[in-house]
Amino acid sequence: MSNASLTIALSKGRIYKDTLPLLAAAGITPVDDPETSRKLILDTNLPEVKLVVIRAADVPTYVQYGAADLGVSGKDVLMEHGGEGIYEPLDLRIACCRLMVAGRPGATETAGRLRVATKFVNTTRHHYAAQGRQVEIIKLYGSMELAPIVGLSDCIVDLVDTGNTLRANGLEPLEHIADISARLVVNKASMKMKSARVKDLIRLLGEAVERATPNP
Ligand code: AMP
Repeated sequence: MSNASLTIALSKGRIYKDTLPLLAAAGITPVDDPETSRKLILDTNLPEVKLVVIRAADVPTYVQYGAADLGVSGKDVLMEHGGEGIYEPLDLRIACCRLMVAGRPGATETAGRLRVATKFVNTTRHHYAAQGRQVEIIKLYGSMELAPIVGLSDCIVDLVDTGNTLRANGLEPLEHIADISARLVVNKASMKMKSARVKDLIRLLGEAVERATPNP
């Protein structure tokens, strides 16, 4: 295996927790725990491999500019980013959920211009543009479910897993936009310049994914 240095960008929480066993299967174990350490760059058991732990929405940007060679990012974040400068070679089949339009029953059937609250502004614009529907998008940073309740918007675009959060707020899923899971992303230059090392890692992670969640 080549010894090219590798920086891998991850976000804290669900993605970090679910990615760890896959990295371990590929022979990479972090030395520090990001939940307790204040370090932003974590050493691993391999001297040439470092992990950077950053905000989920920043992972594609780090990889796009080559500040990280690889990263793990939710498909929702990648869709919003646009994917410029990055390859997406592997579905890790973790952090699975759906990106949905949600609201009170019938909320999207308004004759006027639909008001949609979301943090997924680009994805929402594309979704409704494909329907030929003009909508007003209101950018929020969290707690999207509140917006229709207080009359800020007709509906929301948000991630839905069990649907419990929607139900607890009197909302329901209305339109499916995309199935979401975490993806391995690779900087395009790193894929070329560090080809042997990167392809080796993609293969090992792919095998680990297949063992963890076999394709039916
Ligand atoms: P649930 O109540 O199980 O439908 O989960 C919905 C809440 O969890 C929403 O606030 C979502 O933003 C968040 N959520 C669900 N799945 C994911 C995921 N895979 N990644 C990040 N956030 C998620």
